[in-house]
Amino acid sequence: MPDRSDSESESRKLLRRLRDTLAEHGQGQERLDQITTLIAESMHAEVCSIYLFRDSETLELCATQGLNPEAVHNTRLRLGEGLVGRVARSGQVVNTADAPSEPGFRFMAETGEECFSSFLGVPVQRLGEKLGVLVVQSRNARAYSDDEIYALDVVAMVLAEMTELGAFNGNGSAISGPHEHPVMLRGGSGQEGTAEGNVWLHEPRVVITNFVNDDPDAELERLREAVTELRGSVGDLLRMAADADKEHREILEAYQMFANSRGWLRRMEQGIESGLSAEAAVEKDQSMTRARLQQVPDPYLRERLYDLDDLANRLLRILTGQGRDTGAMMPDRPILVARNIGPGELLEYGNRLKGVVLEEGSVGSHAAIVARALAIPLVVHCDRITIEALNGDTIIVDGDEGVVHLRPDDSVAAAFRDKIIMQTRAAERYAALRDQPAIARCGAQVALHMNAGIMADLPSLEGSGAEGVGLFRTELQFLLRNSMPRRSELAALYARVLDAAGDRRVAFRTLDIGSDKVMPYMNRPEEPNPAMGWRAIRVGLDKPGVMRMQLQALIRAANGGPLTVMFPLIAEMGEFISARDILLREIEREARLGHPLPKSLEVGAMLETPSLVYAPDAFFQLADFISIGGNDLKQFFFAADRENELVRRRYDGLSVSFLTFIQKIIERCAEAGTRLSFCGEDAGRPIDALALAGAGMRALSIRPATIGPVKELILRADLSEVAQIIEDAKRQGLDSVRPQLVSYVRSLPPLDRSQFQPALNGVTSPDT
Ligand code: PEP
Ligand code: MG
Repeated sequence: MPDRSDSESESRKLLRRLRDTLAEHGQGQERLDQITTLIAESMHAEVCSIYLFRDSETLELCATQGLNPEAVHNTRLRLGEGLVGRVARSGQVVNTADAPSEPGFRFMAETGEECFSSFLGVPVQRLGEKLGVLVVQSRNARAYSDDEIYALDVVAMVLAEMTELGAFNGNGSAISGPHEHPVMLRGGSGQEGTAEGNVWLHEPRVVITNFVNDDPDAELERLREAVTELRGSVGDLLRMAADADKEHREILEAYQMFANSRGWLRRMEQGIESGLSAEAAVEKDQSMTRARLQQVPDPYLRERLYDLDDLANRLLRILTGQGRDTGAMMPDRPILVARNIGPGELLEYGNRLKGVVLEEGSVGSHAAIVARALAIPLVVHCDRITIEALNGDTIIVDGDEGVVHLRPDDSVAAAFRDKIIMQTRAAERYAALRDQPAIARCGAQVALHMNAGIMADLPSLEGSGAEGVGLFRTELQFLLRNSMPRRSELAALYARVLDAAGDRRVAFRTLDIGSDKVMPYMNRPEEPNPAMGWRAIRVGLDKPGVMRMQLQALIRAANGGPLTVMFPLIAEMGEFISARDILLREIEREARLGHPLPKSLEVGAMLETPSLVYAPDAFFQLADFISIGGNDLKQFFFAADRENELVRRRYDGLSVSFLTFIQKIIERCAEAGTRLSFCGEDAGRPIDALALAGAGMRALSIRPATIGPVKELILRADLSEVAQIIEDAKRQGLDSVRPQLVSYVRSLPPLDRSQFQPALNGVTSPDT
């Protein structure tokens, strides 16, 4: 255990001198030089050097006391190269009495360092962001004590803060501050589309301006008061969640455990004792947590470290009085950047956002569902984005590729603007086709409906030219709240949806919860495999209370008009009969209560499990319509989890086996005269839609933004030719028809726009 009393006074003295030095005039290089002199002197070392990152892979010697001054700004190291590079890469201290015999030691003649035996290097990092390395070296062979390491670490933290604040930029210094370089970050595509705008941080950073304390007792008092307030607020959270499900409560309990942790408080107190201000001490510990986060692959542990990170943020806000509202103005084209965000919070931003980038998130998360509903590009799993991005930074979101360009240079920005212009032109072309039915050259027509889930989707009915809403996902209203919505609220919402749709048909799907869609206020059993577990209609039939309430709300919303209801994840005929019976009973009940009854009623099933394809004929005769839920059907057909990045793209919806299976469904529905449509995400991709149409599907329900591109391709194609391509592929024993279809589409002539005049006047030609 280090002798704290010595190190405390050592580091406190050092910090105070550092602060005084920084308070004096001087800029960039001069400041760095003063700091190295000061540290070398205080630590009785012959050498003190500061290396900062030039770019993400290169460190540059930026100031030194004791090495050859000529080497400053000339000596560069790659990440991982030499002992300095090792400290930078690992984020760990290297302390050795015999540097030349250390693995990885690299002799740099230009610095004249061969005569120094001992080496102590500590990373300069802030909240997980690597900024550089601070090194002291001595001629005599000695390992530095724990106290000295601690003192240097504290100084490195202040150095990181100063670097972050740009204290070393400018005159005479070749160093530009962090957050100035262009950065490209790769994530996953959560929703297609591109947007250019400015960063709007969901959780703005807390800015710390005083790092050094003059009165440790007063700072300790401030810290303890803030921690007491924090514990109180976490306790309130837990009390408010008294009725929440077990998992939710467990998360909060873990959160409370961290807030009460003595170890955490002790570490922060040590920071204050060594000379840091209360907020700097909190952030020092937070930096350590972030550094650990980057090394922990276990998702559960990562989640817990995120809890600790979150608590540190709350504590910093209490200490600094900085709330989420920093007074900053939201930019005109805000791109939201967050570690994660709940669907309700995202919806609150609403249509103002041009795009969303999440450090975590997942393709099927609720936030992703909302982003899709808002039709804005979304990139998920974008590692480091909350570290790299600052409010107001220019940012380009490429949702098609799952890539983010932060502070892009001119060439990247220009390329994207070209892409956005092309997309805008294409959108104009599609808009011109809005009122045209999707009739292929062979004369076959494909009905194009849209998927929706929130009120904000409804205006797209007009804009996209959708014939109706083929799938209205009702679960969002349940997921977006902390308590069960009331029947009257639901009835009012459904009535508004029907109102907005006018004459167009809206197929309401009853509550599809379970699997990834979890309502925080409902008790759920732990399930080993939730996608194949207690979800959708299974919950509805086992606990019919909520489904009955929802059906009553739908009947009341229809208010004597037509009503279309479909049940999710029907796996066998009996489930459909039971669900349909519940609906019919509710209709009788509403009649007894004197409410107007729907003037026409269509009751359908979502076909999302292979089993239903082989249901008895009676099922196909009973169902008024069937809607293929391609997302689920495909995951069960190929046994490939739609949420699992490792497998979700592994199998192609254009595989001959899947298309043959779809044809079987088409055949069964045709025999029974049952109306059929397809509403999975794949159908929103033009080639996939063409394959489905070629296989015989005559109705698709897709995201509104995809209706135009799908329609344009159908108008250009001949579905009998596509059907022939599928048949040929079957005969040839191919796995997939994708290559054949891609070349077919390439061979198609552009759309003969003369038939659509005058709507297309002034619109540029299609880029095929
Ligand atoms: C589907 O499974 O294809 C579907 C439309 O339902 P969801 O994506 O909501 O599960
Ligand atoms: Mg589904």
